[in-house]
Amino acid sequence: MPDYYDILGVDRDAGQDEIKKAFRRLARETHPDANPDDPSAEHRFREVAEAYEVLGDPDRRAAYDRGGSFDPADLFASFGGIDEVLARFFGGAGFPFGGGVAAGPAQGEDIGVAVAITLEEAASGIDREVSFRAKVRCGTCEGSGSAPGVDLESCERCGGQGSVRVTRQTFLGTTMAIAPCDHCRGRGRTIVEPCSECAGSGSIADEVTIDVAIPAGVDDGTRIRLAGKGQAGDAGGRSGDLYVQIAVEPDTRFERHGADLVHRARVGLAEATLGAEIEIPLVGEEPMTIDVPAGTQPGTVFKLSRKGMPRLQRRGRGDLLVEVAVEVPSALDADAEAALRAYAEAAGESPAPGRRSRRRS
Ligand code: ZN
Ligand code: ZN
Repeated sequence: MPDYYDILGVDRDAGQDEIKKAFRRLARETHPDANPDDPSAEHRFREVAEAYEVLGDPDRRAAYDRGGSFDPADLFASFGGIDEVLARFFGGAGFPFGGGVAAGPAQGEDIGVAVAITLEEAASGIDREVSFRAKVRCGTCEGSGSAPGVDLESCERCGGQGSVRVTRQTFLGTTMAIAPCDHCRGRGRTIVEPCSECAGSGSIADEVTIDVAIPAGVDDGTRIRLAGKGQAGDAGGRSGDLYVQIAVEPDTRFERHGADLVHRARVGLAEATLGAEIEIPLVGEEPMTIDVPAGTQPGTVFKLSRKGMPRLQRRGRGDLLVEVAVEVPSALDADAEAALRAYAEAAGESPAPGRRSRRRS
């Protein structure tokens, strides 16, 4: 027989309150959800739950004190025993084993909204108001669903637990599990007089406007989660989350690759050949001038360090890559053509004697 007092870390003459407190603390510490990387947590958690199942009940505790004249396996013929203990303390928390069902009022649904911003806004970050229709907590009853000033009543069906034992037929035979009480919808309490504003639901549909801080560096498709800003849950339940999906409008001047940007700079034939200063647009800054050296080939890439996009939730910026596109003139006036023919002669090129247009006119 395990030493349940030792497991809970309390003296043999500890009061029920002290035992309850010790259990709550240990259960939180050893809860498998809180220790996802520790496979032994579940075992410790079960030990703690078992100790509490015995010591938390005065009759069982007395029997245990007399020398363990009962078989603890009786208590745990099914996992329902442990789950029920847990439900009493952690209503609404998921139980990772034993087929238990989370008790407590239903959580509100998540909401998704889309926000379109420019590349400039993505670079600087921006506060944007978003509006959507959602169930929000009723202000009259503050979400309880009960008429102000009228107390809730303990649920008769579940005795205020919010959950009920249900038997299930499985291939292992009959097992016990717990489920949210359908009479009180998991709250453990029932409304005597419903709130007149929300008819007892605890929420009303309303137009909601929220200021969303969109951080610098977001990309097309980035989702921002605002916890608890979704639909209100059932009376007493948690609200869902709001997901803001960012769409960054295309900017014809830039192609984005994560934090790096690519800009295609058009350079004239003579400029590429003889060298030039060209103006490059920047995101959120005045354009800058760069030197294109004489003899620059088409496709040459100049890197402007840290002139790209800021990195989302990190320091620094990406780079701006300037790719040179040399423009071959598609039309020349008579002077320019004469100059080019003179150039061809000097350079030893043999162009066609008359201009041969791609399109016949
Ligand atoms: Zn209300
Ligand atoms: Zn109930």
